[in-house]
This record gives sequence, structure tokens and C-alpha cells, in this order.
Amino acid sequence: MKVAVYPGSFDPTTNGHLDIINRASRLCDKLIVGVLDNKSKVPLFTVEERVAQLKEITKDFANVEIKAFSGLLVDFARANNSNIVIRGLRGVTDFSYEFQMALTNRALDSDLETLFISADTQYLFFSSSQVKEIASFGGDIANMVPEIINEQLFCLIFCSGNRFRFRGLSGK
Ligand code: ADP
Repeated sequence: MKVAVYPGSFDPTTNGHLDIINRASRLCDKLIVGVLDNKSKVPLFTVEERVAQLKEITKDFANVEIKAFSGLLVDFARANNSNIVIRGLRGVTDFSYEFQMALTNRALDSDLETLFISADTQYLFFSSSQVKEIASFGGDIANMVPEIINEQLFCLIFCSGNRFRFRGLSGK
């Protein structure tokens, strides 16, 4: 069985991520989306929230599983019997970072192959940070993110208890 892992922060998931998940899920028997629990970064959504969001967003994909992980990607891939890492490429700006990561991961595990997939052109300019920035100013992100993300970001901005939290994290 061909198992691939698609790791990322997904803070939050955009339609670009979803397009990559859709394309990658057609290339393997099982796709495991690895949601990074990075202790050195303060995410907008907790890892539990991001996992729950992705589970909901991908509920119609029969061969997609969502898991949180921390530590080395090579260990996560190995623990899931996978030697295929999926990463998305938006353009040349992503390339040098992604290329370096792929080579580093291969140095740690020579069996690991990184496959780059580009999203449909309509999604290529979306990033999680842009989405958060636009949402923080009340901009319309409905075409950039799945419905559930739009709702939850809106709630973070406008529900009074969460307002401070969102502002603090967006640096304003
Ligand atoms: P990371 O912090 O690991 O970069 P992200 O959640 O930002 O996590 O991205 C995960 C992966 O998805 C990366 O390979 C990134 O290049 C890719 N990606 C993010 N947004 C898009 C998009 N709009 N189109 C294609 N790939 C994307």
C-alpha cells in the first residue's frame, strides 16, 4: 500500500491546501495529513483545533487521515510506514526553502522522497498568513478558505472573548 504524508502547519487550512490534498489523495492509497505541533511557534489555532478543522474539511475523502505530529518529519513518515512526502509549491519563492527541506529530509532518511505538487492557478497566491491578515482587517476570505475556516476566523475576530487572542497573535 502506497502511503504518503502531507505535513504542514495548516494554520489555518486554505483552499490551496485542500487542492493539494485532493490531488495527492489520487496518487496514493492513503494520504496522511500531518498537522505540525511546533512548540517554538505560537499558532492562531491550537493543534487540536487544526486537526478537527481538517477532519471536517476532508470528511468526504475516503483515503485521507489527519494526524497531529511533533518532532522530525522523517520519524513521522517512518511511524506511518511512508516514504513519500507531499509538499505544495506556489512558485519560485517556495522552491529554495522546499528544495533545502527535501534534501535535508533525504539526508536524514535516504529512502524518503519528496513530491512537489502545484495547486490550481486560482489558489497559487493563497497563504495561511495572508488569509489571517486579510481576516484581521475584516476582509472577505470566503473564496480562499473552506467554509468552516471562514466561520471560525470570523468568530475569532468578532466573538468578544476571542478578540484579544486574535489581535495579539496577528501582531496588532
Ligand atoms: P509550513 O509551515 O510547513 O510551510 P503550511 O501550512 O504553510 O506549512 O504549508 C504546508 C504545505 O502546503 C507547504 O508545502 C506549502 O508550500 C503548501 N501550500 C500552502 N499554501 C499553498 C497553496 N496556496 N498552493 C499550493 N501549496 C500550498
